Amino acid sequence: MTKRSDSDTERFREKEIREKRHQEQMPGTDEEPLPPPADPIRTEGKPKRNDPCPCGSGKKYKQCCGKQGA
Ligand SMILES: [Zn+2]
Repeated sequence: MTKRSDSDTERFREKEIREKRHQEQMPGTDEEPLPPPADPIRTEGKPKRNDPCPCGSGKKYKQCCGKQGA
């Protein structure tokens, strides 16, 4: 006679479900996901007005491409 505790079965089931979920998230691989590409500087679309212009002119952005009313 073998006594099996319910908690044992449940544990096994939980593990199965977890593994299934894992496979769904990353199909065909159990490698660790690559870290996102590192952005050295996070520009939010626009450079700051007092920063050097991204066009490489050496001027401040506000005096170059960021000039208003141009
Ligand atoms: Zn510029």
